[in-house]
Amino acid sequence: MSAEYICKKNHFYLPDDLIYLDGNSLGPMPLKALEYMPSVMQNQWGEKLIGGWNDAGWYDQPIRVGDRIARLVGADTGYIVTGETLSIKVYQALAAALDINSDRRVILSDNGNFPTDLYIAEGLIKTLDKGHQLACPNPEEVEDSIDDSVAVLMLTEVDYKTSRRHDMKRLTEKAREHGVITIWDLAHSAGAIPIDLQGCDIDFAIGCTYKYLNGGPGSPAFIYVAKRHSNIATPALSGWMGHQAPFSFEQSYRAHEGTSRMRVGTPPVLALSVLEAALDVFDGVDMHTLYQRSRVLSELFIKEVMGSCPSLILASPEKSELRGSHVSFYFEHAFSAIQALIDLGVVGDFRAPNVMRFGITPLYLEEADISLAAQKIASVVNQGLWKKQIYQKKGAVT
Ligand SMILES: *Cc1c(COP(=O)(O)O)cnc(C)c1O
Repeated sequence: MSAEYICKKNHFYLPDDLIYLDGNSLGPMPLKALEYMPSVMQNQWGEKLIGGWNDAGWYDQPIRVGDRIARLVGADTGYIVTGETLSIKVYQALAAALDINSDRRVILSDNGNFPTDLYIAEGLIKTLDKGHQLACPNPEEVEDSIDDSVAVLMLTEVDYKTSRRHDMKRLTEKAREHGVITIWDLAHSAGAIPIDLQGCDIDFAIGCTYKYLNGGPGSPAFIYVAKRHSNIATPALSGWMGHQAPFSFEQSYRAHEGTSRMRVGTPPVLALSVLEAALDVFDGVDMHTLYQRSRVLSELFIKEVMGSCPSLILASPEKSELRGSHVSFYFEHAFSAIQALIDLGVVGDFRAPNVMRFGITPLYLEEADISLAAQKIASVVNQGLWKKQIYQKKGAVT
């Protein structure tokens, strides 16, 4: 598959003079979604009203959209459902996993994991009140910390700050040898790098869809449950849409067979429709080819930035196979530098306290964008453009 084929810039709504290196945080809008939504509003919600649940396929949408994601993460269809946010999916996966290994008390993660994953674990531990402990060693020490005391290994494959990638296959293998249930968070993997959930024998996986999958701000998250658990995992959020017969309105909960038990409440139809259209961009895209392109572009980016900006330090692993699809640098004035860069038409982001982060997304970036972005970073850093007063003020979201 040629590079031209991968680059689908004309499928996105992106201003001509903007270089968008933040698709790892919020993907740009696919034009398909913009074209599709008026018809969903008019022909489905508008015309069909309540009938849309049956006649427009709203009821099955969480599973249908999950099946679209399945190919991108190496799962068979039928084992992924969509809905709610990733924080909720962390809760569901962790509660179900702890219930499977109910005689163990340790949740093993790492101290580079995204805070919400750890916060949710803390909250669940309190709610369960069974003396669980959350262990968060350095990412490099996780492998040695896997032993028979661990109930659940809960990791994010690609570190949101540094892009460091865990060896999913090896860690899962070791976990299985010790009877540990695995949960992999694919927030920075899905739509960016090839994943083989079934080949790696993962127990649970979760991820969001507004990053590399371009589903739009707050788009629904997904959860994967391995076949062996799909009929027995206990849903902690036992909502009516995960009931075996939601419209029997029974007094008591009975979990639905299969992964549908991870449904909670009424699905966000409009948001799922945006996502459904957004996923069309991935039709015909091979994830290995996409990731290869990401590695080529990332290498060029690192070479050019490091070559021209001696005051930046590479925060990401040097070897491209050890990275996800973003590249980060440490710079003391990272926040102001990112603001100055945005003013020059290059959008990256800042992660506290001193990380400049850039998403490398081959679906809409090519060599020329990468080189131009590197030049602009050099102007900001080397000419001290970041020093201007206007670049010092932080908004609510950074
Ligand atoms: C982006 C991200 C989240 C965000 O969770 P939301 O509930 O969607 O806000 C959670 N975990 C990881 C690892 C992330 O990268």
